[in-house]
Amino acid sequence: MSKDIGYLKSGIAPYIAKRNFKRTPEPQGGALAAGHRFVVQHHWAKRDHYDFRLEMSGVLKSWAVTRGPSANPKDKRLAVRTEDHPLDYADFEGNIPAGEYGGGTVMLWDEGEWISHDADPQKALDLGIMKFALSGRRMQGNWTLIRMKPKVGESAGRENWLLIKERDDHMEPDAGLLDHHTTSVRSGRSREAIAQGDAPIIAAFPDFYPPCLCRASDGPPEGPGWLFAGSRVSIFL
Ligand code: MN
Repeated sequence: MSKDIGYLKSGIAPYIAKRNFKRTPEPQGGALAAGHRFVVQHHWAKRDHYDFRLEMSGVLKSWAVTRGPSANPKDKRLAVRTEDHPLDYADFEGNIPAGEYGGGTVMLWDEGEWISHDADPQKALDLGIMKFALSGRRMQGNWTLIRMKPKVGESAGRENWLLIKERDDHMEPDAGLLDHHTTSVRSGRSREAIAQGDAPIIAAFPDFYPPCLCRASDGPPEGPGWLFAGSRVSIFL
């Protein structure tokens, strides 16, 4: 653990305290890039749940959505606030050893960018109502996170929120978002493939792919129909 990232570590101290990094492959934290990423991780721990994480203030603000997100505005999904996670957790997919904190398989289920509709997202978080847009591969459009009033006798540390899809072009009439997408958004792997440590099915995007370059020529190519030189587009699928 390097010293220069100590100030960031303070925000994720509860995250670090819960884990034994000699035993779990989860990230220890340290990425400093600032942005507006969001991820959802399907986590088969003691209880199957989906971890919803928004990048904010140098950490991933996190909620465990017990039944997972739904694109149907009628579904209000319980989202229990969990400890802030380090930014590099947004790249974590793998297996937390049995017996460790959160032991089980973690699948990157969705990822993308989020935009706050609140002028001050931190204030919105503190007030307990956040409105934002997601441009993920699976979750899209406008969503709300709203904190429920604590029930009598509920432990002070527990924050129960609801994750709700707003009515827009991206809502769906059913609750099938989870059924439609069951493999990793990043690696294409199933739960079993991740558990077994199989290689990713989706190839990583290459850092550099050499394009076809233009070539000097003394005249137009043979054959009819040649008017202009065109453009080339490289698409990696
Ligand atoms: Mn979890």
